[in-house]
Amino acid sequence: MTGTTENALGLYLSIPFCRSKCTYCNFASGVYPASQHARYVDRLIEDLRSAAEWAATADVELPRRVDTIYLGGGTPSLLAPDLVARLFAAIHGVFMVDPDAEITMECAPGQLSDSTLDAMAAAGVNRVSLGVQSFVDREAHESGRLHDRATVEQDLRRLRQAGITNLNVDLIAGLAGQTFMSWEHSLSALIDFGVPHASIYMLEVDEDSRLGRELLAGGARYRAELVPTDDAIARMYDRAIERLSDAGLDQYEISNFSAPGFHSRHNVRYWQRRPYLGIGLDASSALRAPAPSIATETESASQLLLRATTTDSFAAYLAGPQPAETAWLSPACQYEEAWFLGLRLNMGVSMAALEDEFGRGMVEPALKTVTRMIEAGLLSSDGETVRLTAQGRLLSNEVFQEFLGLESEERSTARCQIPYVNS
Ligand code: SF4
Repeated sequence: MTGTTENALGLYLSIPFCRSKCTYCNFASGVYPASQHARYVDRLIEDLRSAAEWAATADVELPRRVDTIYLGGGTPSLLAPDLVARLFAAIHGVFMVDPDAEITMECAPGQLSDSTLDAMAAAGVNRVSLGVQSFVDREAHESGRLHDRATVEQDLRRLRQAGITNLNVDLIAGLAGQTFMSWEHSLSALIDFGVPHASIYMLEVDEDSRLGRELLAGGARYRAELVPTDDAIARMYDRAIERLSDAGLDQYEISNFSAPGFHSRHNVRYWQRRPYLGIGLDASSALRAPAPSIATETESASQLLLRATTTDSFAAYLAGPQPAETAWLSPACQYEEAWFLGLRLNMGVSMAALEDEFGRGMVEPALKTVTRMIEAGLLSSDGETVRLTAQGRLLSNEVFQEFLGLESEERSTARCQIPYVNS
């Protein structure tokens, strides 16, 4: 994305309902009674309808045209068919959805009724992401998943019969009890099922998941002692890149692989810093200020960007409209993001595009960092485009850290975190 105006929006709707909580999950999702679903969808519709008013108050551009929609969570496939229909009717009432828009819904295997599948197809859902995580039944069950391999096979067949053929399967490298042999088994199954997209995540260990907390505490619940080592997980990830590439699913982002033309248009939007609106629990938006209304003299070449995040409290969200937490990202801050989001993509970061957007003065300080990272074997460059190397992808967080605070710390913190609360 550049600082210029873009006339299409990506729309994200957070559906935080799950039938059970997975041990590794660090999302703001939960097991809520079905009786709450309708109330939650009412709130989503309320926020969709007031989005233009909110954007005007926040002084940001909200394109009316939408070219990608993503229902994530949570498990959006748990919604009853009438709720799916109402939600999409509301979206079409507020936005102009492109006829060829990519419309994705996340589904949990075995948690998609025939009637909801019919409602999804009728609403124009044309892409489904299935949270499989492992094709080894024991690994899946011990992680809190409720499906087995046969269920996944059946759901893939039902989705294809319903005309939804743009399918993604998620796998996690690093589940408790996973071995190289079981990982090969999961990769083989994914390839055999012939899906055109795969997401491969390495287990995240943090305080926000039950398994993460157990690992950090050195405990043994959730079979934490059987979580593979970091080195083993890295080898599993490398093996996935190799096997998926051989099967025609090329890596286009650190965690994402696709057949030609089947990349996730919605997710690429995030990494290319194009505008998106997030509605619902714990949802983020990134929207631009209209050009020179807020920019200062020194920043006049580029627009400021507003990052907004909604509450992660389910009760607070249900209670009624809440002010979003917001922060204006200055051009200096956006420049840092251009590096660490752009480097996620295998296509890399174009130096010429950076100079066009931010000017040579801002680009130059990064060149020393780039050279250092090239010498360390973490980045490569052909003189025009800078990319992560294979080693850089494994150590991507360390690389991204190098692109934070490219300017003085004072400037970076002052401009990247200007607190601002919408009313
Ligand atoms: S990983 Fe997905 S399905 Fe599992 S609890 Fe988290 S959001 Fe729900």
